[in-house]
Amino acid sequence: MGRPLRTVTGPTDHVVVVGAGLSGLAAALYLLGSGRSVTVLERADHPGGRVGVFHGSDYDIDNGATVLTMPELIDQALAAVGSDAGSVNPPLRIKQLGPSYHARFADGSVIDLHADPDAMAAEVTRACGADEAQRYLRMRRWLADVFDAEYDSFMDANFDSPLDLLSGNLVRLVRLGAFGRLGPRIGKFLHDSRLARLFTFQALYAGVSPAEALGVYGAIPHMDTSMGVYFPEGGMRAIAQALADAVTTAGGRIEFGANVTGIDVDGRRARRVNTADGRGFDCDTVVVTVDIDSVPKLFGTTTSRRRRLRASPSAVVVHGTIPVAVTDEWAAQEHHTIDFGEAWDRTFAEITARRGRGSLMSDPSLLITRPALTDAGLYIDRDGERYEPLSVLAPCPNLDSAPLQWPSLTQSYVRELLAELEKRGYTGIAAAYTVDSVDTPQTWSDQGMLAGSPFSAAHVFRQTGPFRPRNFPRATDNVVLAGCGTTPGVGVPTALISGKLAAERIIGRH
Ligand SMILES: Cc1cc2nc3c(=O)[nH]c(=O)nc-3n(C[C@H](O)[C@H](O)[C@H](O)COP(=O)(O)OP(=O)(O)OC[C@H]3O[C@@H](n4cnc5c(N)ncnc54)[C@H](O)[C@@H]3O)c2cc1C
Repeated sequence: MGRPLRTVTGPTDHVVVVGAGLSGLAAALYLLGSGRSVTVLERADHPGGRVGVFHGSDYDIDNGATVLTMPELIDQALAAVGSDAGSVNPPLRIKQLGPSYHARFADGSVIDLHADPDAMAAEVTRACGADEAQRYLRMRRWLADVFDAEYDSFMDANFDSPLDLLSGNLVRLVRLGAFGRLGPRIGKFLHDSRLARLFTFQALYAGVSPAEALGVYGAIPHMDTSMGVYFPEGGMRAIAQALADAVTTAGGRIEFGANVTGIDVDGRRARRVNTADGRGFDCDTVVVTVDIDSVPKLFGTTTSRRRRLRASPSAVVVHGTIPVAVTDEWAAQEHHTIDFGEAWDRTFAEITARRGRGSLMSDPSLLITRPALTDAGLYIDRDGERYEPLSVLAPCPNLDSAPLQWPSLTQSYVRELLAELEKRGYTGIAAAYTVDSVDTPQTWSDQGMLAGSPFSAAHVFRQTGPFRPRNFPRATDNVVLAGCGTTPGVGVPTALISGKLAAERIIGRH
């Protein structure tokens, strides 16, 4: 038996959710499913938040998350109101990618990453030899064990105190060596450094280097490499549309263009949520999903405590279109290509260095995303020529790490990245790629995100599990947090889980 969960006291009939990202939409669905009346206030004109969209002149492109793992969490959120992927409008059709990633290395070699163990073992045998394939299978079992030991008690779990750790699978995780460092641990299994990169780069999703990440974060490569990578027809934005449709069909209200500027608190209770256009929304309980750095502002307090949070690295993300006649000639023909530079430890050192010592990657590793290769409906026919949407993501230091002048730097940095890709065999990209939008740390900072990082607080030990900002701060009795800055953390699956955990603070365990 776990310790009793601290929950909201007093009335909870009407809940206002601030933010229609995945955490807010998931919270809304679980709350609606329990009979609460729910109003979601979203400052943008569409749902999704960091599972976002850029509207080009004649096409749309995902400008947030592109790698979908654990799609069953979407089904669970929909099921909370008796809905499912086939019932929402438009229906949500999710497809597994094969391979999950195509990886290219500086020595010219390539490795495809398959979720299926036999397919991956065959690929490892081809690229690295049969012995390494056996080692891969042993490592895969270890990652799965770490994930199994931790999912219920650490990821899908509310914490009121560090003591809650003791009621989980702590001993099992200690035995698995999950409190050692991920990079060295994977290095013990795998002898081929290229392969090791494929199972440790995900530490970056947690905001740290593989050398620094705890072994418990082996759960992320497990999700990413064994459980499959998926893509919804129409783009990642279809996930948010589906959840939002289920919210309104279940009787919830979503107000777009509702920029929340403050929350009135009377004693220990939030009573009213105010928006920039002068409206006020009375509430019994509030779920706040704005970036963790922006939460104090809504309560008229300072951010001094939050300032001590260490932010994850950030990213420069380039979006645009390119003629298919150009991309057809490339060797890489997969939805997700990771093009690794030769440098590795140095790359992480550059983008994770603290307090002004960070710098741009000198030998970049880049993620290239070509969604039309999975969903042909995303091609664009323009003046008799076919184009495809293309994004390039370059990890970079956050603004605490490197306070760079992004407005003046962006253009030249994008040119540099495209020249590098051109050199690596993406012939024609520098001249033929029409860049329509570039997001930089400045973009995220302007949206109120911690240190200009869209990946929130880094998952260093002191910002993990019960040590991460709690989702039920003790200052009030009816304000609950959800989203990537609180538990369990950053990512699409974790944002969905955090919405569920926030709802549990209001309705009790689901
Ligand atoms: C470029 C990029 C790439 C990523 N890649 C991946 C990936 O491949 N796979 C993966 O799993 N994760 C990825 N992530 C991370 C993942 O997208 C996020 O962790 C997750 O979507 C965060 O959800 P959230 O609900 O916590 O926050 P958000 O999505 O930010 O939702 C918060 C919502 O609140 C709204 N809001 C903020 N302030 C106010 C206000 N004052 N009033 C009203 N509304 C407000 C915002 O507009 C937003 O809609 C990526 C993120 C980015 C940005």
